[in-house]
Order: sequence, then structure tokens, then C-alpha cells
Amino acid sequence: MTSRKPLISGNWKMNLNHFEAIQLIQKLSYALTKDDIEAVDVSVHPPFTDLRSVQTVLQADKIPIALGAQNCHWEAKGAFTGEIAPAMLSKLSVQYVITGHSERRQLFGETNEDVNRKVKAIVKAEMTPIMACGETLEQREAGEVEDHIVTQLREGLAGVKADDVSNMVIAYEPIWAIGTGATATPEDAQEVCALVRATVLDLYNKPTADAVRIQYGGSVKPGTAPEILTQPDIDGALIGGAALSAEDFAHCIQYRLR
Ligand code: PEP
Repeated sequence: MTSRKPLISGNWKMNLNHFEAIQLIQKLSYALTKDDIEAVDVSVHPPFTDLRSVQTVLQADKIPIALGAQNCHWEAKGAFTGEIAPAMLSKLSVQYVITGHSERRQLFGETNEDVNRKVKAIVKAEMTPIMACGETLEQREAGEVEDHIVTQLREGLAGVKADDVSNMVIAYEPIWAIGTGATATPEDAQEVCALVRATVLDLYNKPTADAVRIQYGGSVKPGTAPEILTQPDIDGALIGGAALSAEDFAHCIQYRLR
């Protein structure tokens, strides 16, 4: 048995203005019970422009949902037009920051080295990185999943201390399953999440591998959440589309009851 508390994170991507964000977080708080939040950690990752509004609602109504961001820069400040520094996020009570999402890698050219700098900067700012990794369909069909995932992890975690890795979250997100409606089978998802844990064991040690939380992401919906989330090496989910509906996201969080 594992003592890792699941973390279910909603990645809102580039959706919802701050008025809509307030509505969604309020609806979500009505849909969740105290028991849900005791059993599962929940984070929401609104666009930057919504963070202050969502933070205000979470604090005012004492809603035990963690605030997350979708990205940040690795530098602390300076001439980086359009970028956001980690300390700007921690000042807004942001607890989790996604880094290495495949959309950032594929659309904005982020490399493993960039992801590594961001992981270190997020840790330094006392937030928790959710570092995403995952293969394309071509890589899967060519039998390159293991090589690709191990490389992403080795380079993404280079120079990150074991204690910091213990506290972080790694999201396995097969690119072919993101936003496509095609979820990996629970067995395939478990197999790669077990590989992620074995790689952390190889790079660090057993306590670190036992402690790191590993999420699955890729078209998780209320109907698929229970089977995915009960796999032994899967400690939660990173959810895009279904997180934009309070009802669907709450149903994913309530996977144990379904
Ligand atoms: C994601 O954004 O990380 C994601 C998994 O999206 P979706 O659930 O829509 O596939």
C-alpha cells in the first residue's frame, strides 16, 4: 500500500476570462464535498490573467483547492517581455506550476533544458513543479517510448536534489491522447507510470521513487477516471478538457465513488 495522496489537477489552458474563471471555481467548490478534498488533493491551473481573481475566491471562501499555474520563466526578473517570474506566482499563493507540457514543447519549442531550468526555478520559489513527459504516436509505434521518457526525465531532472524530487509531481501525458478523446488503456498508462517511477529509482533512490507523485494525463473523463486512477503507480491526473466543466471535473475527483 502506498501513502501517496492523489493529486488531480485541472489545466484550463487558454480558456476562460477572469469572470468565467470565478464562476467555474465557485461551481467546483459547490460540487465537491469535504470528504472529496480529504481523499484527493485538487489544483486548478487558470490562465495568468485569472490567477488573482481565483486566488481571491479561494481565500475568501476558504476553499481547499490549490492554485496552480500553467508555466513560468526560469529567471527571477529582467528583460523577458511577456514572461512571468516564479516569485510573481508564489506571491499569489500559487502552489503548483506545470512545466514541460507537450503543447509548450511542440508549439513553443521548449526543450528538456528549458524544462530543467524551470523545474529548478519553481523549486527555488518554494512551489511544486508538475513536470510533464510523454511520447508522440510515431515514437510509440516505433517502440521508442522507454528511451524517450527516460531521456525527458534524466534531462528534465538534471541537478535537482532527491528531496525536491520527492515533493514534486511528474505527469505522464502521451501526446496522442491529449485533447483527442483517445485515452491510453489503464494497462498502458500504468506501464509507463511504472517506468517513470523506476527511472526515478535509478536516478535517485527508493524513498524518492516511493514519494514522487505520478499523474496520468490525456483525455481523462468521468467515465475513464476510475480505472486509470486506481492503477498502483498512478497518483492522480492532469486533466484538460474535462476540467472546464465543474461537474465533469468533480466527477473525476470523485472517482472512488463511481
Ligand atoms: C492536458 O492539458 O494536460 C490534458 C491532458 O488535456 P485533455 O485532458 O484535454 O486531454
